[in-house]
Amino acid sequence: MPMNPTYDILFEPVQIGPVTAPNRFYQTPHATGMGNMRPNSSAALRAIKAAGGWGVVCTEYCSIHPSADETPYAYLSLWDDEDLQQLALTCDAIHQQGALAGIELWHGGSHSNNRGTRLAPLAPTGCSTIFTGAGQQVREMDASDITELRRWQRDAALRAQQAGFDIVYVYAGHDYLPFQFLSPLTNRREDAYGGSLENRARLLREMIEDTREAVGDRCAVAVRLAIDELHGESGISADGDGQRIIEYLGELPDLWDIALGGSLGNDSCSSRFAAEGYQEQYAGVVKQLTSKPVVSVGRFTSPDTMVSQIRRGVQDFIGAARPSIADPFLPWKIARGREDEIRECIGCNICRSANNEAAPLRCTQNPTMGEEWRRGWHPEKIAPARRAASILVVGGGPAGLEASLALGRRGYRVTLAEAGRELGGRLLQDSTLPGLANWIRVRDHRSHLIAQMDRIDVYLQSPLGADDLAEFDADAVVLATGSRWRQDGIGTHGRQPVPIESSARVFTPDDLFDDELPTGDFVIYDDDHYFMAGALAEKLLLAGRRVTYLTPGTSVSSWTVMTDEQDFIQQRLLQLGLVTGFTRRLQRVERKRLFSCCTYGGEVFEYDFDNLLLVTGRLPNDELFHQLSIDATRLGDCFVPSSIADAVYAGHRFAREFDEDPATLVPKRERARLQQLALDEVTMP
Ligand code: ADP
Ligand code: SF4
Repeated sequence: MPMNPTYDILFEPVQIGPVTAPNRFYQTPHATGMGNMRPNSSAALRAIKAAGGWGVVCTEYCSIHPSADETPYAYLSLWDDEDLQQLALTCDAIHQQGALAGIELWHGGSHSNNRGTRLAPLAPTGCSTIFTGAGQQVREMDASDITELRRWQRDAALRAQQAGFDIVYVYAGHDYLPFQFLSPLTNRREDAYGGSLENRARLLREMIEDTREAVGDRCAVAVRLAIDELHGESGISADGDGQRIIEYLGELPDLWDIALGGSLGNDSCSSRFAAEGYQEQYAGVVKQLTSKPVVSVGRFTSPDTMVSQIRRGVQDFIGAARPSIADPFLPWKIARGREDEIRECIGCNICRSANNEAAPLRCTQNPTMGEEWRRGWHPEKIAPARRAASILVVGGGPAGLEASLALGRRGYRVTLAEAGRELGGRLLQDSTLPGLANWIRVRDHRSHLIAQMDRIDVYLQSPLGADDLAEFDADAVVLATGSRWRQDGIGTHGRQPVPIESSARVFTPDDLFDDELPTGDFVIYDDDHYFMAGALAEKLLLAGRRVTYLTPGTSVSSWTVMTDEQDFIQQRLLQLGLVTGFTRRLQRVERKRLFSCCTYGGEVFEYDFDNLLLVTGRLPNDELFHQLSIDATRLGDCFVPSSIADAVYAGHRFAREFDEDPATLVPKRERARLQQLALDEVTMP
């Protein structure tokens, strides 16, 4: 299909200093959990983005010296020529697809606790490391340290140029070292690098000049700047020092990549807390103050919003990390008039959790993300069916939908039976919670494509039993029948059923999605720790209920620290009047009173309630499986309850591996280069 001419502007080339981006789609640097430990995986991931039409594809953070080490998190490094070879692989892979390659040179300063290299962490002013541990402090940099730092940046920039990169970053965002010099909150120096803004910005200016000198006019120099650290007037703010930095240095680099500071959660804000285009006000400020191209992110998935940003002069590029993870072929689809096929990011930040857990990147919407090299998965291509076969999929939640779509794409004949009136499974409930409306995109993307495929028949309001399945006579049966919340109190901390009086008004999340909420106030007991208890608390508070939140954990929705949301969630709920009781483990429940004990001391705390909501563990809906006399495969929550991302992944993997030889399905691993140990290295003289 031809491209909608409205979108032509997105495909205009843009000059960045000495290089030219082929279009305005700019994959900004983002972590992959791969780093220098998984160079082949990194190269394949970035190559897919370039093949998908991103005109600029950047690496993740790349350490310029061993004093910037975030072990066990995966970062790149350019410390020596061996690193150079690794990165040249990624750079070449990006170039082969016609995109520009950018590299984000990085020094973490007090962010890096150097557990791997065991070097003393550095900062403009002595302090504790961000990752406090064993009393470790950060050493204040003296003049010679600053000279050394500049040399490290120059050397790394030179290697980046030799590796073939087109855009080399000076990274003054996200609380890293050059930003620590900029912010009066972290820079209390009294020498030429502290005090006035000009002094605090001196290091950044020098690093830009040093980088330029190193790369000559072969590469563009980009600056990633946190324009606002969201700490008000006392820190860097867009209408204060942030603006003045651009006034001072605006014409020095070839491109400004504008981000937010404070924490990574501010910059990659989840859809629960920020809408598409949420950084517009910040990028817009910079665009007014410099003639250099500006890029910024904003979870852009709508081409109309993208065009609007460019036309209104907010920025020159469409910066994207998450939308390019959810759909590496987003530009390619727009260019072919297939924007309705874009796999839109839902803003769940599961991708952030991968990095925060030091694991390879994964995505709720895109099950192939992170699997490009390891399993050879391509987001838009899939091997054809090995034979003509019909497959019955029972359950139209994330797992069943993805299995059906991917099997249909392979060419299998698929029948998808769903008991409910609509496809979507758990998404139908989860997406009604405050701020989670975007999550329904997981269903919408798949149901839209399935509706266009003749080979997939969908039957709604079709609850199938064991006899139906036997009669259906499919070549294979897949059960994706989901899960339900436990009613017995067993969860992450509580491993034994909790005694509960039958007259008590006890609910699970499954009960709270009806039109009518139960009357009265609530005690929520969260032993699940992900989004559900916090989101239901918000729903109840917004409905005017008093809510007391008890958990054996030490914060609300504690696992959401991995999705960079925990601060936001707790702050919002406290503002809405949530009463909290942390380190409380549920012991027993009477008709209107519950007994909990402190997880440390065992002291008993009693709470009265009208309604008790248990958000604990989940059980698979696998009764049908156990009734079957025929073979069937369980997928997603019905096999083991987990995240939506895991359900989608399970459905996809089943479809990829169906009928394939198991011996060919072992994922590749990145292995260390083996070196023979010399005997005298281990024996005594
Ligand atoms: P998952 O996350 O693993 O995809 P969900 O709970 O989201 O699981 O979806 C499971 C879906 O399966 C629900 O929409 C539910 O209505 C449907 N389902 C469960 N049992 C049956 C059945 N026996 N026949 C048809 N559909 C079923
Ligand atoms: Fe978007 Fe969620 Fe995928 Fe991240 S994991 S790219 S937020 S859909």
